[in-house]
Amino acid sequence: MNTTDVSAFPLRLEGDAIPMVSFKKVTKSYGNLVVLDSLDLDVAEGEMVTVIGPSGSGKTTVLRMLMTLETINGGVIYVDGEPLTHMERDGKLVRADSRHLRKMRSKIGMCFQHFNLFPHMTALENCMEGPVHVLGMSKKEARERSEELLAMVGMAEKRDQHPSRLSGGQQQRVAIARALAMRPKVMLFDEVTSALDPEVIGEVTNVIRQLVAEHNLTMLMVTHQMGFAKDISDRICFFYSGRIEEQGTPDELFGNPQKERTQQFLSAVK
Ligand code: ADP
Repeated sequence: MNTTDVSAFPLRLEGDAIPMVSFKKVTKSYGNLVVLDSLDLDVAEGEMVTVIGPSGSGKTTVLRMLMTLETINGGVIYVDGEPLTHMERDGKLVRADSRHLRKMRSKIGMCFQHFNLFPHMTALENCMEGPVHVLGMSKKEARERSEELLAMVGMAEKRDQHPSRLSGGQQQRVAIARALAMRPKVMLFDEVTSALDPEVIGEVTNVIRQLVAEHNLTMLMVTHQMGFAKDISDRICFFYSGRIEEQGTPDELFGNPQKERTQQFLSAVK
């Protein structure tokens, strides 16, 4: 599918309450399969939004678009008021160059199901890598910040261990610290507990819970753990076929879903 004309979209978002993340009529297709169908989704600064929905409904694609891992077929995504994959040239939106992409990517931190830590580096070195090599931070500063973050996720004592010596839950906590070390404005969590043994899920969800309670980070999360989503989210978006079928506060969505598809989904996952 061809890229649609983006000239109708603003060059930047302006106003009093600019969302930290804003999908404007975003379309994504693979061949004939429309995965995101003119999606509009705003996430306010400091808001924790969880995306739920059946398999194949486009949840992960939303995060992948934000990570600029996928090209966009239509619409524009804004992060922190600026277009993510486009930029201004001569008063028009054009495809972003690598410099703009680098700048925008640095605003976004991510944690996935598979933590992908660098195997040859210790927990501390994993956290320091990005700040030193990407942000150009001094080693001393990066070390101090990484030590603080590892302490925050309860991994201070394991900072000199390599990933192979850590449990899945511990590796995921290091992965969260590593993402935070880059000082992102937005954190994305994609099924971060799916690959974990049940007994260690709590240690990872508690770290995310703490982030929500103590930091004014904007977060977008995909999870199958409805109880966890209900506990920590400001808003839940129920996805169906690449669209938001229904959204609301956890109480609204879980307590009194309005749409039949939401009701069916929720009764099936209980
Ligand atoms: P969810 O996270 O809700 O399970 P996804 O966003 O991963 O759904 O995928 C949405 C749809 O896009 C699915 O039908 C999936 O098969 C399809 N899809 C995802 N990635 C690709 C790809 N690289 N090529 C073709 N189809 C894809």
